[in-house]
Amino acid sequence: MISIKMQEQVKSSSVIRAMFEEGKRLAEIHGAENVFDFSIGNPNVEPPEEINKAILEILNTEHPMSIHGYMNNSGYEEVRATIAKSINDKFGTAFTQKNILMTVGAAGGLNVIFKTLLNPLDEVITFAPFFGEYRNYVKNYEGELVIVSPNTVDFQPNLEEFKAKITPKTKAVIINSPNNPTGVVYSEETIIKLSEIMREKQKEFGTDIYLVSDEPYRELAYDNVEVPYLTKYYANTVIGYSFSKSLSLPGERIGYLVISDQAADYENIISAANIANRILGYVNAPSLFQRVVAKCLNAKVDIDTYNKNRELLYNGLSSCGYECIKPEGAFYLFVKTPIENDVEFCNLAKKKNILIVTGTAFGCPGYVRIAYCVAYKTIEKALPGFKALIDEVK
Ligand code: PLP
Repeated sequence: MISIKMQEQVKSSSVIRAMFEEGKRLAEIHGAENVFDFSIGNPNVEPPEEINKAILEILNTEHPMSIHGYMNNSGYEEVRATIAKSINDKFGTAFTQKNILMTVGAAGGLNVIFKTLLNPLDEVITFAPFFGEYRNYVKNYEGELVIVSPNTVDFQPNLEEFKAKITPKTKAVIINSPNNPTGVVYSEETIIKLSEIMREKQKEFGTDIYLVSDEPYRELAYDNVEVPYLTKYYANTVIGYSFSKSLSLPGERIGYLVISDQAADYENIISAANIANRILGYVNAPSLFQRVVAKCLNAKVDIDTYNKNRELLYNGLSSCGYECIKPEGAFYLFVKTPIENDVEFCNLAKKKNILIVTGTAFGCPGYVRIAYCVAYKTIEKALPGFKALIDEVK
């Protein structure tokens, strides 16, 4: 018999994954070319060519025992030093290898930091709409996810409600920008205000409240929009970075945490996070890919491909009457459903072989997420279906 906790987690298991499976089922019946699967954020742009070159170079020049062996649970020292330097060069920070912990993607990093920080019933605040897996990551360590309701005007965080929801039990706040599912980038003004509120509340309650910034989409930002680097604004910051989307390597499971030495109790956090990485069973981030990403920190995926998709989808849907705000980053469009019930709308879309995810899965009913990391022609071919759908329900 599986545990009671897992019974609950199985029941609320990812809608996105379920849709992804459904897409594969429909593709077998109707042919892949007739199914428009916008359900999952699996990059469709190839990794940059530097990746394969780096893999081959490492395999051809380094000793196999040194490539595939165990290392420090935090990762290779030289890899972490290279990453710290690259962050410093880009953002004017002063990190060293000590501040970097290599992780099994962003998901691994978030689990490590929550295991490190949370006591049972500690509260973690997030802003709807948010990546639904946060529910699990917080529950894994008996924490409570507290959700701030969405600001559907521009999808910047609702800071008034945020302020009211911070309590003495608030241990962390998790934000994600560029955001999944809205594509919105939190502005510098938002970050400044959010930091001020957190500092105020720390003082009021005499507590430390950590800001966890989940950043798998940092590099996917359009029109030169600035994505603020958060350690500059708020001392108690931990950044969770991932190469899953920035270098199209989601299956390789590689990312890192940045634990700032400005953060309260940072020495203990760094050593506890190192141990958390081990005892959660990750032990360390994948060895080969630590080496690979360290050689590719300036490599980029062809973000133009996503940008073209963004324009086509946004313009196409807007012109047939859908309401949405133009995303500034990531590869998602968050669209208001023309009927109130987003679950019903997704089911209607499925009848046209269009697979999209309910806003409900992200804590924001009445919307749907469309992942546009797909072929351009998939969007072109799906647009008539989207038009028929809105005409049908209006
Ligand atoms: N956080 C957000 C907001 C995501 O969208 C994802 C993946 O889609 C993750 C974390 C997990 O990323 P990774 O594959 O690097 O674990």
